[in-house]
Amino acid sequence: MRVRSIRELKNIKNKRILLRVDFNVPISKSGKIDQNEDYRIVQTLPTIKYLLKKKAKVVILAHLGRPGGKVVESLRLDPVAIRLSQLLKKDIYKSDSIIDKDTLKNIDSLAGGNILMLENIRFDKREEKADKKFANELAGLGDIYVNDAFAVCHRDQASVSTIQNHLPAYAGLLLEDELKNLNSAVIKPFKPLTVIIGGAKISTKIKLIQRFLKISDHVLLGGALANTVLHVMGVSVGKSLVEPEMYPVIRKIKLTDNQLRVPVDGLLAKNYQAKTGRLDALADVRPDELILDIGPDTIKLYEKIIKSSKMIVWNGPMGLIETPFFAKGTESLIKILAKTKAYTVVGGGESVQVIRRLNLEKKFNFISTGGGAMLEFLEGKKLPGLKKILLTNK
Ligand code: ADP
Ligand code: MG
Repeated sequence: MRVRSIRELKNIKNKRILLRVDFNVPISKSGKIDQNEDYRIVQTLPTIKYLLKKKAKVVILAHLGRPGGKVVESLRLDPVAIRLSQLLKKDIYKSDSIIDKDTLKNIDSLAGGNILMLENIRFDKREEKADKKFANELAGLGDIYVNDAFAVCHRDQASVSTIQNHLPAYAGLLLEDELKNLNSAVIKPFKPLTVIIGGAKISTKIKLIQRFLKISDHVLLGGALANTVLHVMGVSVGKSLVEPEMYPVIRKIKLTDNQLRVPVDGLLAKNYQAKTGRLDALADVRPDELILDIGPDTIKLYEKIIKSSKMIVWNGPMGLIETPFFAKGTESLIKILAKTKAYTVVGGGESVQVIRRLNLEKKFNFISTGGGAMLEFLEGKKLPGLKKILLTNK
């Protein structure tokens, strides 16, 4: 793999670096960021520190939420700037606009080794339209563009992709690390490779499943998305949600092949609000029941396969993790993955949340900050945010 990395940049003292990050973290009603939710900010610190140490002028571009091109007071980046400042133990400048008449002056007068954070880039509707003029205006604020926002790299947007036509573009250290880890899973994985896919909808992950059926030794399914596959296999899933439009696609997969595994037992309940449920084999799900988690026999089966693997890629929870009783399958899986000697790569918003809840982040080899971006990268799609950065993945 060849990536244009900031490590290649020679003398960047006093150079204006436009650094695109993904600081899209949940902010509480009181306007603060929970300690457990600042993962994305923490992950970008190495890049920021690297640039500061080289005395560059760092101009941060970031978004928060989906303001849809309007100024939304609760989506201003101030809490993010405060948290970043605390983490760096350094004062940083925060602008109340993206670009105004003083922005250029402010950047020019910024001493090398300092940070100016511009306001939520999505307050300008041209951002999400990948507008050329806007990208050009942004480019006018910097000498070099650095992308460290893997989680938005699947978006064709002005500060993610279009800007790369106007400035020399490089990957930040986090992005580089993301690419190395995810690329190794698809290009030269340690074998046997096992991929575990869970989550809500099979339609959002079918391409990933199809690709990994070509690359990996085992594909293990869990979560609500397994229901549609179970249905096609002739297993009654009660009133669990299925996606009938996916039946034809699933029928094309060789379901009798042991390479693809589905749950054999589960925790069942009559509605999504249930606090507990009963355990049974999936052959015995009643018509008025929902499958809300995988059961211990499935976990045992998956554990055996995991233990025989050298690399594991996992995305998406095994059950309705918002209810503690139905988070058990996902938690057991995490504990097994935390113990395995295999190289473990994980991604996806919800899966990572549970790992953090159990305080087991350190037991994984790599935790991706990308949800949708990770899925698309692993599917083999070309991500717009990497167009001038990832030269070849071979
Ligand atoms: P990720 O963000 O980790 O990629 P998804 O967004 O695809 O995962 O799916 C996460 C959601 O799937 C969670 O909110 C979880 O409650 C839900 N989910 C998983 N399994 C089930 C299930 N059996 N029944 C209902 N919801 C489920
Ligand atoms: Mg999700």
